[in-house]
Amino acid sequence: AVSAVCLTACGAFTDTAEADGSAPPAKSGDITVGLLLPDRDTTRFEKFDRPVFTRRIASLTAHRGRVRYANAGASAARQSRQLQQMIDAKVDVVVVDAVDGRAIAPQVRKAREAGIPVIAYDRLAEGPIDAYVSHDNELVGEVQGRALLEALGSKAPTSRIVMLNGSPTDPNSALFEKGALDQLKNSVVIAKSYDTRAWLPQVAEANLKKAIRSVGLGNIAAVYAANDGLAGAAVKALKQAGATRIPPVTGQDADLAAVRRIVAGEQYMTVYKSFTEEADNAAEMAVAKAQGRSLAFDALARDKVGNTTRKDIPAALVPVVAVTRDTVKDTLVRDGVYTVRDICTPA
Ligand code: BGC
Repeated sequence: AVSAVCLTACGAFTDTAEADGSAPPAKSGDITVGLLLPDRDTTRFEKFDRPVFTRRIASLTAHRGRVRYANAGASAARQSRQLQQMIDAKVDVVVVDAVDGRAIAPQVRKAREAGIPVIAYDRLAEGPIDAYVSHDNELVGEVQGRALLEALGSKAPTSRIVMLNGSPTDPNSALFEKGALDQLKNSVVIAKSYDTRAWLPQVAEANLKKAIRSVGLGNIAAVYAANDGLAGAAVKALKQAGATRIPPVTGQDADLAAVRRIVAGEQYMTVYKSFTEEADNAAEMAVAKAQGRSLAFDALARDKVGNTTRKDIPAALVPVVAVTRDTVKDTLVRDGVYTVRDICTPA
C-alpha cells in the first residue's frame, strides 16, 4: 500500500519506468545503481531494504538494471572506500545509508564531481545530496516517547527511566532522541541516558547493566531503546539481572524478534516503518535520476545535520506507525510483513 504522503512522489516516479511491456525509456537497460547500506547488526538492511530495492530496480528496468551492493559492516572508513570504488566503477547513481553522516561527505562530493547523483537513504548524509528518502525521524522518537507515557500511565511523574540512544554518528539518532525527549523530559525522571556506539546491541547491553548497578533493577520503571536491536539487548540485560517482570521497553523497525517479544509481553512497542515503501521510493528515485528525469517530491528534508538545516533537499518521507500487542494484527499482519505463523513460531 502506497501511503498518502508518498502518493504524489510515487506517481511521478513510476509512470514511465514500470515494467509493463511499454517501450523502455532511454538508458533503462544498462544502468548500474550503487546501494550502500551501513551494517549487518540491524536486521532490516539485509532482510528488507536490500532485496526490496534490488527487486524494484529489476522491475523498473525490465530486469536489465544492475545493483552494485556494499554493506559497510558498521565501519565509516570502509563505507568511504566502498563509495569511492563505486565512483571509480562509474555507476550511474548512488543510494547511500551512511554509517557516519559527516565522514562520508568527501566521497559524496567526489561523486558529485564525477557527475554521479547521490540519494541519501534513511539517514541524511552531509555533502551535495540530490534527494533523500526516509521517515520523519523526529516523529519516530515522539511516537516512542508517547508510547512510554501511555505504558506508565499515572505513575509517569515518579518513574525513573533509562535511555539507550542510537549511534552518535547516525544523524537519525539525535532526531529520535529529540522527539522522545520532547515527550518525556517534563513527564518522567530520566535516570540515565547513553549513546550506543555503532548501534551495537552488546554496547547497549553493557550500558543497561551499568544503569542497573547504579539505579537498581527495581527502580527502573521503563527503558527507552531507540531500536529493536537495542531493545533486545535491554531485555536480555534485565533478565540476566533477575527481572521477573520486564518494564515497558520501546523499539523501532518491527524486527520479527521484537514482534515476538511484544506478543510475549517482553517489549511494549516498536515503530513500524515500511521498509518496502522506503526502498521502493529510493529505487524509483535512483532510476529517474539515472535517466536524467526530474523528480516530484512530497516534502523537503527538514532534518538537521550539524547546524545546517537542509531545506534544499527534496525528500520522500514514508509514514510511521506505533505497534503494541493490541495492534500487531491490524498493522504488520494486515500488511503482510509477517504471518501469524511467523510471529507465533518460536525462534
Ligand atoms: C534507522 C533505523 C535502524 C538504525 C540502526 C537508523 O538510522 O532509521 O531503522 O534501526 O539506524 O541501524
